[in-house]
Amino acid sequence: MAVIIEKDKCIGCSICRSNCSFDSIEMVESIAVINHGTCTQCGLCIGDCPVQAIYKEQVEKHENCDNLSQYSGVMVFAEQRQGVIQNISFELLGEGRLLADKLGEELSAILIGTDIFGKVEDLFKYGADKVYLVEGVGFENYRTEPYCYAMEKIINEYKPEIVLIGATNIGRDLGPRIAGRVVTGLTADCIELGIDEDTKLLLQTRPAFGGNIMATILCPEHRPQMATIRPGVFKKNDPDSSKKGVLVRVHMSISDINVRTEVLETIKQGKIIDIQDAEIIVSGGRGVGSADNFNIIKNAAKELGGIFGASRAAVDAGWIDSNYQVGQTGKTVAPKIYIACGISGAIQHQAGISKSDIIIAINKNPNAAIFDIADYGICGDLFKILPILVEELNKVKN
Ligand code: FAD
Repeated sequence: MAVIIEKDKCIGCSICRSNCSFDSIEMVESIAVINHGTCTQCGLCIGDCPVQAIYKEQVEKHENCDNLSQYSGVMVFAEQRQGVIQNISFELLGEGRLLADKLGEELSAILIGTDIFGKVEDLFKYGADKVYLVEGVGFENYRTEPYCYAMEKIINEYKPEIVLIGATNIGRDLGPRIAGRVVTGLTADCIELGIDEDTKLLLQTRPAFGGNIMATILCPEHRPQMATIRPGVFKKNDPDSSKKGVLVRVHMSISDINVRTEVLETIKQGKIIDIQDAEIIVSGGRGVGSADNFNIIKNAAKELGGIFGASRAAVDAGWIDSNYQVGQTGKTVAPKIYIACGISGAIQHQAGISKSDIIIAINKNPNAAIFDIADYGICGDLFKILPILVEELNKVKN
């Protein structure tokens, strides 16, 4: 959908060049020329041109633009690793259930793996009405080609209206490739989803422009509407053992697929503590001051039976490993108690903690933004307050 300037019509007034916010237009021999490498196709120049010499190229419509009504239901990619269904899959089923109920449609899950049939029941328990199961040798470990092939085939055949994928390493590889193959849009790293009352379109909200605003993105003309969602954003429902569903076995063989990669060996990293599953997180920011000082945060987390976290400033300073970073470019967490110490509460940090049940903030600046979202705010020096807070919380716990 490139923006085109008709050379014959251009009068060389250069209004478009002056108004282009991206410096993507230059004058060559008194004719405006677009640099397609930097043009964002925002289309502002189209309205600016006094002689209508600029237009947006129309792309041929893909078949899934014309038959939107054929698409129905919410479909979740059920991610498994070594035969274990990942928490994100249950979180997506919880949210998918809400969306499907709002639309009055079905919630399904795609499960791909080897000897994985035993896990289908879990997907029903967590809300799926239907499970599409691709099971066979060669599907045990995630590999791009077979998983993309399977997903594309199922989406094209069963035509879901919405597809949700976890924004995990696997989902971030899979999601855009599938969207490209089925010719639709994808909103990556959503932190909120909803259904528009009037249009029934999926409202896909994610941080934009460096996290300074939340943008709600729509995909009105293509299907399915696809989104990746970060782990920890949605809470999983309690499993309901009485819930049953329909199993659809989708037959495909790895030999049908041109697979160029082979998994030779899987080496497990040492135990990585996943702060996304923690019920109590004590996090430290730049206000902690140094790597040595961070021990106060680590000890507090240990004493409360929780895990420590950090702001990006603390990670960038090299005090803490990036696995513990909370926020837009770190982890999204949803603990029962989140204690933010010496963290100012930038919007990018808030994006990762807003689903916490209780936020306690300790900051010596009474105007710190963290106090705007904290349930309990304590203004003062974290080195004095945190030990007292831990002692008091432990009294309540015990
Ligand atoms: P500061 O903003 O410097 O705040 C330090 C706070 O400590 C201050 O409020 C100060 O009053 C307080 N303080 C100082 N001493 C004490 C004391 N003794 N006792 C109590 N309080 C004290 N940030 C994240 O955290 N996570 C992300 O994922 C993330 N992603 C980003 C993505 C993008 C695209 C961008 C542009 C930024 C991102 N950031 C992220 C960075 C973010 O904008 C902030 O710069 C960062 O969160 C600031 O970290 P901080 O609150 O620890 O430090």
